Amino acid sequence: MKVIIDTHAGPCSGVKRALRMIEDELKQNNNVATLGPVIHNQVEIDRLNELGVVTLDQESVSQNNFNVERGKRMIIRAHGIAKNLRNQLVNAGFELIDGTCPTVLKIQKDIERYYRDGYQILIVGNPNHPEVKGLNGQCDNQAAILQSEDDIDHIRFSDKALLISQTTVAFNKFLAIQKKILQIAPHVIVKDTICRQVNSRHENIRNFAADVDVVLLVGGKNSSNTRVLFEIAKQSNPHTFWIERQEDIDGGWFAGCHCIGITGSASTPVWQLEHIKTYVESVTLN
Ligand code: SF4
Repeated sequence: MKVIIDTHAGPCSGVKRALRMIEDELKQNNNVATLGPVIHNQVEIDRLNELGVVTLDQESVSQNNFNVERGKRMIIRAHGIAKNLRNQLVNAGFELIDGTCPTVLKIQKDIERYYRDGYQILIVGNPNHPEVKGLNGQCDNQAAILQSEDDIDHIRFSDKALLISQTTVAFNKFLAIQKKILQIAPHVIVKDTICRQVNSRHENIRNFAADVDVVLLVGGKNSSNTRVLFEIAKQSNPHTFWIERQEDIDGGWFAGCHCIGITGSASTPVWQLEHIKTYVESVTLN
């Protein structure tokens, strides 16, 4: 039985950067907090919390119900946050360390600029996703958030409008929405802001899944990127299983199998993939 790790797996550059910032702060023994989970990966969050990182929720910040000293330096997550929230944190006494991914930061700045110039902002994405909330926060939460083509029917297009996307949206979805919008409102300016690091993983994971007997996709159950990758891998290989931790693994999945492939999403650190590999090898050798 062979157990291999997908060579294309590992966190995207934005997540790596934010995690590196946290590690650097911890090395200097600084009190570090994050607003909400810094990435959509509970196993990694638990590890960071054990090392002393404080995860604050938005409600406790809004109600001033927190201890600034315990998390004096606040790391802004890779997905970014809204402008007013940033100000709120500074006013509350936090020193901000900006872990916003440069790709997301650029989209935030574009939205801010177009909105200031009187453009209606249209965002393809999940309204509950932190990145989308952060993007919407650059235009006073006035953006229209589109989750599907059906949502377009409810929009009244302004004379000037900008269409952009959450970075992790599936390319086909964005194209379908863009096509329908341009048929109705050809004047809309379109900026394809899908992250290419995420997008190129789609083809990679499709091929990886096809080459092994069983796929273990390691990633947070609340991660939209993991969900997209799971659906793609599952289409390619029906024996694909989405796990968060080793306890989720059922030994029966490996019956009659010669090669097990382990892969992860943009928010799965490599140490987690290696940990799962060691565990799977111990289970399948016994
Ligand atoms: S997925 Fe892309 S845009 Fe999002 S944090 Fe990672 S590198 Fe940045």
